[in-house]
Parts: sequence; C-alpha cells; structure tokens
Amino acid sequence: MPATRENLPLTYRPTPPENGEPVTFDEGLRVPDRPIVPFIEGDGIGPDIWAATRRVTDAAVSRAYGGERSIAWMEVLAGEKAFRKTGEWLPQASLDSIAEFGVAIKGPLTTPVGGGIRSLNVRIRQALDLYSCIRPVRWIPGTPSPMREPEKLDVVIFRENTEDVYAGIEWESGTPEARRVLSFLDTEMGTPIREGSGVAVKPISPFGTRRHVAASIRYALERGRSSVTLVHKGNIMKFTEGAFRDWGYEEAAENFGERTLPESEIWKGARPEGRLIVKDRIADAMFQQVLLRPDEYDVLTTPNLNGDYLSDACAAQVGGLGMAPGANVGDVTAVFEATHGTAPKYAGLDKVNPGSLILSAVMMLEHMEWDEAARIVDTGIEGAVGARTVTYDLERQLEGATKVSCSGFAEAIVSHMRRA
Ligand code: NAP
Repeated sequence: MPATRENLPLTYRPTPPENGEPVTFDEGLRVPDRPIVPFIEGDGIGPDIWAATRRVTDAAVSRAYGGERSIAWMEVLAGEKAFRKTGEWLPQASLDSIAEFGVAIKGPLTTPVGGGIRSLNVRIRQALDLYSCIRPVRWIPGTPSPMREPEKLDVVIFRENTEDVYAGIEWESGTPEARRVLSFLDTEMGTPIREGSGVAVKPISPFGTRRHVAASIRYALERGRSSVTLVHKGNIMKFTEGAFRDWGYEEAAENFGERTLPESEIWKGARPEGRLIVKDRIADAMFQQVLLRPDEYDVLTTPNLNGDYLSDACAAQVGGLGMAPGANVGDVTAVFEATHGTAPKYAGLDKVNPGSLILSAVMMLEHMEWDEAARIVDTGIEGAVGARTVTYDLERQLEGATKVSCSGFAEAIVSHMRRA
C-alpha cells in the first residue's frame, strides 16, 4: 500500500541490531569486532545486487576471521522503498543513522530526468559532506575489455563531490529568475548573454579544492602510489578549473612539501627519490592519455564534472560499469556505492552483474582495515571471472563463458574464495 499522510508511521527510525557496536572516530577509525553498518538496498536492480554483495561480504569475513568478527547490518531507507514506507524519498533519520555509524553501503537510487525530485545520491553526498568520490579502476584478469593491454590501466579517480556545476545552482530558460540573472550579468557585469538562455553557476572554491586534493595526496601516500595528476580544463575556465590546478599545487607544496614533488621540478632535473609526483593535465588530453599511455598515471584528482566523465570512460576500458566500484568519503563518514544506476529494465530478474557493489564492499573492508577479508573477496572474483563463470554482460563478450544469474555469480565468487 503506498504511504499516505494517514497511514505513515509517526516517526521512522532505523533500529540498530542489538548485538552490534558502533564504529567510532577518534583520531582515526576504530572498528569493533561486530560493527553496525547501515545499508541502503537501492531501487531497480538494487535488491538483487545488494543480496549478492551481502552474501559475498559475510562469507569473506567469516572465512577471514572464523567467527571472531562479523558485520551487524542495519537497513536504512532511501529511494522508492523509503517513499512507500514513510512518504519521504530520503528521510532525515536515514541520513542521521549514516552520520552516526560512520560507514555505510548503498545500492543505486532512481533519479527522474527533468522535473521532480533532485538526485538522492547528490543529496546524500552533500548532506553528509562526502566531499571526495573515490573510484579505483583496474583490470581483473579474464574480464573482457576493448583494449589490447587493459592491465596497463590501474588508476584511482578522486572526483570532487560538492562543487562545480553539480552544486545545482541553475535557472531555467525564460523564467523570471533566469531573466533577472541575465539582466544582472548584462547591466551590472557588462557580460551580455543570448536572450532565452538557461543559466548555471559553476562554483569552485579554494577550501573545497584544497581539502579534496589533500585527501587524494594522503590516499596516494598511504598506499605507495607514484603520482597524483590534477585534471582540469583551466585553459578555458581559468578562474574555476585553472584555479583548481593552482590551489592543488599550493596544497601539495604547503602541506605535503617534504613528501611530494611537482613534475616541473623533474623537467628541471630533480630526482623524485621516493616522493609522490604531482602533475596536471588538461581534461581532453587526459582522455587520450588513459587510452594511449595509461601506465603513466596513478591517482587522478579532478573537479566534479571531469571526474564523472573520466571515471566512466576508464571503467569502460577494463570491463564496464558492472565491475567499477566507488566510495564517497568525507572527514569522518564514508558511503560505498555501485557506480552504475538502477537499470530498471532488469529489476527483480536476478540477472545483472553485482561486481560493482561487491568491489565497493571490498573498498569498505579496506577502509575498516579488514584487509584479509577484502583480499579473500578479490580471490573469489578473480577465480569466478578466470573460470569464465559470469553474468550476461560479461558472458556476451567472452567466448566459452558460462552465463550465471546475479545470485549465481555471488555463489561462484564464494566457491572460488581462498586465503590470499
Ligand atoms: P544504468 O542504470 O547504469 O543502466 C544503463 C545500462 O548499463 C543498463 O541498461 C545495462 O546495459 C548496464 N548496466 C548497469 N548496471 C549494470 C550491472 N550491474 N550489470 C550489468 N549491466 C549493467 O543507467 P541509466 O539507465 O542511465 O539510469 C537508470 C537510473 O539510475 C536513473 O534514474 C539514474 O538517475 C539512476 N542512477 C543512479 C546512480 C546512483 O545511484 N549512484 C548512478 C547512475 C544512475 P545493457 O542493457 O546494455 O546490458
């Protein structure tokens, strides 16, 4: 029954499992042996890929720690399920729970194109100030790829999550608001714009850029990565994308000067000697570089829109969105999520590839420093793909492959798991 004012629960509050404990953050993440982890199942194919992900994650944790550790999953509502049960698409209680427990995982959520509600995904990122979107892209051996040498691409895209044209500041063509903005730009700023234009604002700040670049540098240093590349379109948008590059170099020099080296110093003859190289590329050239010289790049740090395009393009090189994980991370809160959408035509068919959400769970296990369990999931995925036991999207590109369902792929992963 759809929710109406009359039959809504008075207050919706997710119930934490009794036998779990919260993850805490006190100069670093402290993860108990049975952490409470909120999950959002998601719309469309969400329930299918979530069930597969939970099965694989629980099996890997059990195999790694023999019952000494386990995850106390706690469902929080968002999207269509939330609307059906509470009358709201994104209840405040769901956001509060994610903020309270610090680590969460989510399936995809529907966003109607054009009018209607704003993207729930964008609202979650903005409400919890999850300012960096992290998308590692590497090839899993055996995955079909359009590239001749897909193994050469092993990058981590750090996409800024809160600014740029995604800030959602725009005025529709012909509205009084748009006319007012156009008139202001013409009369006050001396910049006439064609009549009837829709207008959007692209804010990029030193604060937003520097904390994001700092997060990407810390990530690269902690994981022994070789370079951070600032990807921008500063030749055209000088005071937004160009400034992103300049503030990025400033952040590297001022707060990581001992451990980083700008590429320009290498051109002058300096030797990196274990330091992280910081370089920059113009966005269009970067799209060529990931195709032609992928092994020269490592962490790619971008403003919001460039990162959106670049992460899907890179994912396509190693097997598509079905195998591309993601995380949205702020100072204390992290939400792990599939990079693809709700693929509504496959909803409830137990058909699609759960790889993206499963690999996002791997990132979550790494974030919790449960690396043994993360590596066990990796062995399971590599084993299943190596044995060509795959879902329809990979099967159609792999000769001699066995097509399995979404849940069948999860079982194949579990059956190939071993200690790394
Ligand atoms: P989509 O849901 O990502 O699906 C597009 C196509 O990608 C599918 O038809 C399918 O291609 C392939 N695909 C996606 N996920 C797959 C999987 N797990 N396994 C195998 N193939 C997969 O994109 P969309 O149709 O543009 O968007 C649908 C809805 O999702 C929209 O409401 C959009 O706003 C929302 N969305 C949400 C998120 C999020 O929650 N983070 C992200 C993006 C989009 P084939 O049919 O060719 O096999």
